[in-house]
Amino acid sequence: MGQMFSTTTDEEQQDFVSSFKCFKESNMKNRLIPEETIREIEVHLAKGNIQGANTVITTALKEINDSPLNIAVTGESGSGKSSLINALRGVDHESKDAAPTGVCETTMERNPYTHPNLPNVTVWDLPGIGTTNFQPKDYLKKVKFVEYDFFIIVSATRFRKNDIDFAKGIRIMKRNFYFVRSKVDSDIRNEKEFKPSTFEEKKVLQTIREDCLSNFRKNNMIEPQVFLISSKNLDKFDFKNLMDTLINDLPTQKRHIFMLSLPNITEAAIERKRESLKKCVWLEAFKDGLLATLSTEGMFSVQDMEKLKASLNHFQVMFGVDDLSLEHLAKDLQAPVEQLKAIIKSPKLLEAKNEETMEKLIGFVEKFFSINGGLVASGIYFQKIFYLQLHFLDTVAEDAKVILKESSSRGHSR
Ligand code: GDP
Ligand code: MG
Repeated sequence: MGQMFSTTTDEEQQDFVSSFKCFKESNMKNRLIPEETIREIEVHLAKGNIQGANTVITTALKEINDSPLNIAVTGESGSGKSSLINALRGVDHESKDAAPTGVCETTMERNPYTHPNLPNVTVWDLPGIGTTNFQPKDYLKKVKFVEYDFFIIVSATRFRKNDIDFAKGIRIMKRNFYFVRSKVDSDIRNEKEFKPSTFEEKKVLQTIREDCLSNFRKNNMIEPQVFLISSKNLDKFDFKNLMDTLINDLPTQKRHIFMLSLPNITEAAIERKRESLKKCVWLEAFKDGLLATLSTEGMFSVQDMEKLKASLNHFQVMFGVDDLSLEHLAKDLQAPVEQLKAIIKSPKLLEAKNEETMEKLIGFVEKFFSINGGLVASGIYFQKIFYLQLHFLDTVAEDAKVILKESSSRGHSR
């Protein structure tokens, strides 16, 4: 370890400090790691304790990638819990991993549904309190309330006293909960059908919201925020708003994993995912760069290629443009998968014959260095594959937007 100290020149140390300052500024906007961790890294860097900084970053990265996230969804049977759970996990209702929908609950037990791409994210299906004979306090104990990061209470009608009492209980236990009024698409459809001449979507939504809120007032509870959603159409109504609120409320360490877990329903969601992943890629490279001085020339090693392939695949899975996701989507759209692959770029990134690909990639790195030469000249020896990872990330995020546009133009909504 001492050796690391002696190989770092003052100039390099200055570069590390100033380079990290840039990260710190971008971290303020959309926090990836907590402020205390940032300060800790800065202290190490200022002292020239490169190994110390490396260790803190390694731990922080591990923490944000491995943080467990447990979401509890509760509500009466038939309220739309399972449908919301599938929506949160980005799982199609007909997929084999889907929470079964439209089935009457027979069990009083909680059911875990793991996220298909993120094993540390679990959405729990809790039996509605009204279907059990428990008092809120006992119910909370029975469903192991301490294990969840937050609760979502779902109702397809106005919230019942049970749900409201339950929320009070959660608040006493100092946990967060969110009220979701589900199936608003069918309310709108019904109103339209029965009152075609006076129908106004905005008014219908307003009435539903007011009706929910008045129920809280009647039960002597401060009005919470109520999210009106349709699990059949996530990009309409308050689903996005709910996601934004959850992201803001979650502790920093859990935010990244939650963002990754969300379906790619809007350009903004894709952008947010990209920003968060970009920070991770940067931090990873910075951490490696602290301990290694790498030449910017030469070929990629076999390990580099493996690492690049793995990153590309990871990004594709996170943005739903991996082979399997594209196949599923193609099936939904009733289009050949080749048609989807033809309009995006990432499948071609590492597809060409090996030598040709390498050349192209090296060309890209060289171009990057010639444009951003300052970084290298100033002595920050980030690994060259870092730039490629960023290039891959950008390409995949753009692909996700292209696919989103394509599927909505074909009338497919998530
Ligand atoms: P759970 O019993 O609370 O898990 O509710 P489910 O998710 O199984 O939903 C019950 C029924 O309502 C199913 O037939 C769903 O297809 C339907 N459903 C759920 N969410 C929505 C929604 O947002 N809009 C509409 N129109 N129907 C929904
Ligand atoms: Mg269910």
